[in-house]
Amino acid sequence: ANLLAPPEVVERFAEMIQTDVSYAALCYMFEQVEATTKRLLIADILTHFFRRVIAKAPQELLPLVYLCINRLSPQYEGIELGVGESLLIKAVAEATGRGAAKVKADVVALGDIGLVAKESRSTQRTMTMFKTRQLKVAQVFQTLKQIATTSGHASMSHKVGKIKGMLATCQGNEAKYLMRSLEGKLRIGLAEQTVLVALAHAFVLHHQTEKLDVETLAETLQEAAATVKSVYNELPSYDVMIPALLEHGVDKLSEFCKLTPGIPVKPMLAHPTKSISEVLDRFENHTFTCEYKYDGERAQIHRLEDGRTLIFSRNSENMTAKYPDVMDKMNRALVAGTGSFILDCEAVAWDRAQRKILPFQILSTRKRKDVKESEITVQVCVFAFDLLYLNGRSLLRVPLAERRKLLAESFRCVDGDFQFAKSQVITDVEEIQTFLDESVEDNCEGLMVKTLDGDEASYEPSRRSRNWLKVKKDYISGIGDTLDLMVMGAYAGRGKRTGVYGGFLLSCYNPDNEHYEAICKIGTGFTEADLESHRDILRESIISQPRSYYNFGDSVKPDVWFEPRMVWEIRAADLSISPVYQAAVGKVDSYKGISLRFPRFVRIRDDKGPEDATTSDQIADMYQSQKINSVDHPQSDDN
Ligand code: ATP
Repeated sequence: ANLLAPPEVVERFAEMIQTDVSYAALCYMFEQVEATTKRLLIADILTHFFRRVIAKAPQELLPLVYLCINRLSPQYEGIELGVGESLLIKAVAEATGRGAAKVKADVVALGDIGLVAKESRSTQRTMTMFKTRQLKVAQVFQTLKQIATTSGHASMSHKVGKIKGMLATCQGNEAKYLMRSLEGKLRIGLAEQTVLVALAHAFVLHHQTEKLDVETLAETLQEAAATVKSVYNELPSYDVMIPALLEHGVDKLSEFCKLTPGIPVKPMLAHPTKSISEVLDRFENHTFTCEYKYDGERAQIHRLEDGRTLIFSRNSENMTAKYPDVMDKMNRALVAGTGSFILDCEAVAWDRAQRKILPFQILSTRKRKDVKESEITVQVCVFAFDLLYLNGRSLLRVPLAERRKLLAESFRCVDGDFQFAKSQVITDVEEIQTFLDESVEDNCEGLMVKTLDGDEASYEPSRRSRNWLKVKKDYISGIGDTLDLMVMGAYAGRGKRTGVYGGFLLSCYNPDNEHYEAICKIGTGFTEADLESHRDILRESIISQPRSYYNFGDSVKPDVWFEPRMVWEIRAADLSISPVYQAAVGKVDSYKGISLRFPRFVRIRDDKGPEDATTSDQIADMYQSQKINSVDHPQSDDN
């Protein structure tokens, strides 16, 4: 029973949600969610909230879902919130008539501008409050969208004006949540997966006419949640899915929402491995294939029904403008009869003279935006490894062997422009080792090993699947993989590093509580140019205090803190238990965390956001498997 929304909360939803939804109603729901960490309870609270909205104000469901996940549009449209701290401080100061210095001092003391905004509001004279109108969800959503899409030189004062306008109408906790939304992170423990489950449950319960016994109902709800999640994986757009749910309900959802060229799917991901025998153990009774793991940038290439071509990054960002040259390559690679398609590829830097692959570092020097074809200096070759959609048909559930066949029939290899990922069907350790060595000689990162046939060979969007394993060149004897870590802070440089940062504090991400957990200091692997460029890029992310959701030990406190933005790929010798660092604390040891030994900077991962950083669970897994794989591994407690 304590996993069900309390009756008074449900009643309050009924009172508050009428033909439109006030921002107060949404914030009341946020408060209930924030007050618990129980996922099932959160899902039930949200289900009741959505049910009432579907019944009374269905037109508000779409903006509400977006506000719950703190986004304003599908990810691929790239409309981002994330207003900087100084602008928020200015808006709070102006809205409340307090000095900016005072507001800033409060932010330092409380560590959360949301709380400061709330406190500042409540110390204002109550007179003004009586006069104010209620903020509505539709209006907040529209205004946030305007703030996120305003640019140009007058945009700052325009944004401050809009934020001030909303703050003037805020009551109770509204200012707190509004500020957090503006900052880009709500931090109430509401995961997108829970939103999807609650949506599914709310629609089932809304449409249910006959009374079902408890077991049948539980089964129906579970199936509905699975349907909505899988539809969203194929078509990650609430703009399409919410209207379809309102019109057709969950049962028919998959008829109306399907994989669609133009809307990027979240890519399938691989599991790391540390030994070739681990690969063979996993795939003992399967046919599998080894492919080169190219070291470039993932590119999901879409050809729409209308003939347009779009290219999306690993993170579903539209990067068509970065690769104007790829359009022409694609046209030349098409076989007659190939219409609409979605390809999964890696774009790799290519040396035309020597006809060979160049390392990732060369690709990273290519301009990212508004690239003019005539100015391109770094050539790319596209290596296609999967085909997800062809001529109006989704291939996600078709086994890889068949997808590959269709890939080969529908495209032709154009040397140095468009090629198929090099692959081999292999069965023993030695052959894999030889192929791995070849891949490294050819400037690749190692191998991808994939199941070919049967149910376990379908394409699983957004999943880190055991049907794809990665075998990286350097890590066979190390920890199996590099890590992608968020740069939390930096230490002032001394001596030769005066004027740049001398070292950095890195963290992994814990999605359970949405905290970043410090994992190590790093000072090696940087060139002088790297350090200068990091200083310049990170300057824009400096904040006056650590975020309340940064976990770190006092002894590693950096001199400067950063907003959660920058992600770096890091190589390390191994992982060790640490009394100082907070990563994965409680997962392997009750009180101690995990740290990295000998971390080295590899590259910036600008195709990953901070929440795509390596998670605490992954760190704990890596630590455990390192222990299993090398019993005599030296463990140090002194890190
Ligand atoms: P992760 O979140 O798993 O760390 P990542 O983006 O860091 O993901 P890797 O772990 O290095 O990526 O491995 C998967 C990536 O390898 C893919 O995202 C893709 O860009 C690249 N890749 C290169 N060749 C292949 C291939 N043949 N098949 C699949 N992916 C490939």
